Amino acid sequence: MARGGGLVFEELPARAAELAGLRIHRALPRRGRRMVGAWCFLDRYGPLSFTREKPMDVGAHPHIGLQTFSWLVEGEIVHNDSLGCEGLIRPGEVSLMTAGPGIAHSEETPRENTGRLHGVQLWVALPEAERGRAASYRHYRETPALELAGGVVRVMAGETLGARSELEMYSELVGLDIEVHAGGRVEIPARRDFEYAALPLKGGVELGGERLNLDSLYYLGMGRDSIRLGSRGGGRVLLIGGAPFEEPVVMWWNFVARTAEEIRAAREDWEQRRRFGEIPGFRGERIGAPAYGARPVDQR
Ligand code: MN
Repeated sequence: MARGGGLVFEELPARAAELAGLRIHRALPRRGRRMVGAWCFLDRYGPLSFTREKPMDVGAHPHIGLQTFSWLVEGEIVHNDSLGCEGLIRPGEVSLMTAGPGIAHSEETPRENTGRLHGVQLWVALPEAERGRAASYRHYRETPALELAGGVVRVMAGETLGARSELEMYSELVGLDIEVHAGGRVEIPARRDFEYAALPLKGGVELGGERLNLDSLYYLGMGRDSIRLGSRGGGRVLLIGGAPFEEPVVMWWNFVARTAEEIRAAREDWEQRRRFGEIPGFRGERIGAPAYGARPVDQR
């Protein structure tokens, strides 16, 4: 998909929003760019410092048709779900919840914490052949970290430079957290049949010689052989990619489906307390679904 012989390099400023009082930057989905491979949602929050507050306080809410993927640069989050699973996630760990036909969960800052919070949440659309599989939750404590001369590459999902993440995912994709040392360069081999996007996490990073702005997503298209990163003062960037997702997807609120009818049924089941179950480890509030057709403000 090279344009005029060159490669795609498109800056897409993220949209600032609030999620249960937490300021977030939503990079995906957005007008004109809904997905990158099977990745269909990307929020970044922080970095922030806090004392007695509870910056992450997302009450019980449902999901269908996707996997939620949480990754922290700093701080911690407690996940509880309707399967009875609890996970305390820290930097370097992945919280992966597969919604299948339906699951409910909550995400909160734990009482004991470092007073810092900085991270991302991503969603991955499940392909048709897998979206009916039973809901599940897994907390992965280890992520391959490749120490290179120019930086550190953490393989959150998929495979790169001979290192493979253990995550059970159902589309061909990759997710990397790339730290570039001050004055360092990192080159990541790319697949020509994957589309890619980069989101800076901190510091100043250059991609293919272009300086990246924080709070913008950079869509990099397909047909690349490699992705080259550099930094003068040090920085960190999230790189996602995958084979373009060919199935038509309907996304609304916390649901990923194929038809409006499926979305309406999921919404109704959540409102009527069917299908999704209760969360045994959670004492807080249950988030009501917006009216169908309304702007899905609190999408998470
Ligand atoms: Mn969620």
